[in-house]
Amino acid sequence: MSKKRVVIAGMGFGGLRAAKALGDSGLELILIDRNNYHLFQPLLYQVATAGLEEEEIAYPLRGLIRGWKNATFLLAEITGVNVADRTIQTDGETIAYDYLIVAAGSRTNYFGMESVANNAFDLKRLDQAEDMRNQILLMFERASRESDISRRKALLTFVIVGGGPTGVEFAGALRELIVYVLSKDHPTIAVSETRIVLIEAADSLLTAMPEDLREYARHKLISMGVEVMLESKVVGATEETVELFGGMTIGTHTLLWSAGVAAAELAGAIPGIERAGAGRLVVNADLTIPGHPEIMVVGDMACCLANGAPLPMMAPVASQQGEYAAQSILARERGATLPPFRYRDKGAMATIGKSSAVAVTRGFKFRGYIAWLAWLLLHLFYLVGFRNRVVVMMNWTYAYWFQERQVRIITAKKRRGGRS
Ligand SMILES: Cc1cc2nc3c(=O)[nH]c(=O)nc-3n(C[C@H](O)[C@H](O)[C@H](O)COP(=O)(O)OP(=O)(O)OC[C@H]3O[C@@H](n4cnc5c(N)ncnc54)[C@H](O)[C@@H]3O)c2cc1C
Repeated sequence: MSKKRVVIAGMGFGGLRAAKALGDSGLELILIDRNNYHLFQPLLYQVATAGLEEEEIAYPLRGLIRGWKNATFLLAEITGVNVADRTIQTDGETIAYDYLIVAAGSRTNYFGMESVANNAFDLKRLDQAEDMRNQILLMFERASRESDISRRKALLTFVIVGGGPTGVEFAGALRELIVYVLSKDHPTIAVSETRIVLIEAADSLLTAMPEDLREYARHKLISMGVEVMLESKVVGATEETVELFGGMTIGTHTLLWSAGVAAAELAGAIPGIERAGAGRLVVNADLTIPGHPEIMVVGDMACCLANGAPLPMMAPVASQQGEYAAQSILARERGATLPPFRYRDKGAMATIGKSSAVAVTRGFKFRGYIAWLAWLLLHLFYLVGFRNRVVVMMNWTYAYWFQERQVRIITAKKRRGGRS
């Protein structure tokens, strides 16, 4: 009898964990992704701020499956799923499945604001992180030759929208890049000429954190020189301005959008499935989709309720769901069933700058150096690949002691990545 085939669509946090759990199971495994690597998205902001090289936060998927007898990797764009035929369509072949784990993640959500989508930088992919780094370095190069004061000011103004972990981490890292590195590279530019504005629609940063940690993060950023604007909404943008609700305009060439995500496009290419907020696919308590026990959706794409609210779009949710999906398939193959998926919330953390972070876990709150150290160690632990861990640790140690960022390389003078 031929082996049952499991197809995993998307090799991010959810897909990777599912693949690892199924690697030696004896089932036939087909892993599909549009990239030939797994990307550690939480460190993209460090690539964008010249702290890490691209390769250090990516892991080649063919390296992962070496030694797994029944596994194949396919570099392909998945274009749809035919739930009736049990096939998955790609830009090349059509692939049949017995079980399907859909783990295609999310894309940036501009909430229908075309002008923002056309002008903002985005931080979901490696090429976008590189574009962002090029932009920051190019703005300094152009400002150093610009004599008109208002044009120079706009070149040296960086606007970040979204006060979640990505916005906070990026703002802190960019400020450190400017203060410790770029101001030395460009002696004609004073730090006081530069401006970083962090804009958040809610009345605090890091809304998932307890109140005192949110306030700590805000004060810390302000003390570093970041302007924090709360209860402010961006409503439009051009190449040289950002427009706020109420009519205020900020002159800038650099707008980073980190204010929203929605389910990946693939969610719209799986017909007949109910979609919830942000286009996420509504799943049963065992992560299957209604009427199709052979299909499981995990991670950012899945709308899975816990205590009546959807689970957040976070890496631990995706990883735990990927593990559950794999275990559920293995259990079914043994004729057993697993109890419903239960998310084990291990907490949240965000780093603000050197020796400064906030973290909450099981009701315990940490901030400052201890939280920062915990952040470093956890990110090293979860980063995929031994070499990546070693190189990232060396880079962080170097940056800590010498306050330098080595990756100050402009690789393209024009933006190459599109929006995601
Ligand atoms: C900048 C940034 C910082 C973040 N920081 C944190 C953090 O600090 N902590 C935290 O918990 N979470 C963080 N997150 C969120 C976290 O990364 C996501 O929740 C997590 O990656 C979701 O995992 P996933 O498996 O659902 O999707 P992903 O990890 O996004 O993986 C989806 C995969 O599917 C592939 N794919 C998508 N569509 C297709 C297609 N049509 N064809 C082929 N392949 C496809 C993609 O290439 C990708 O490899 C951050 C996200 C970003 C962008």
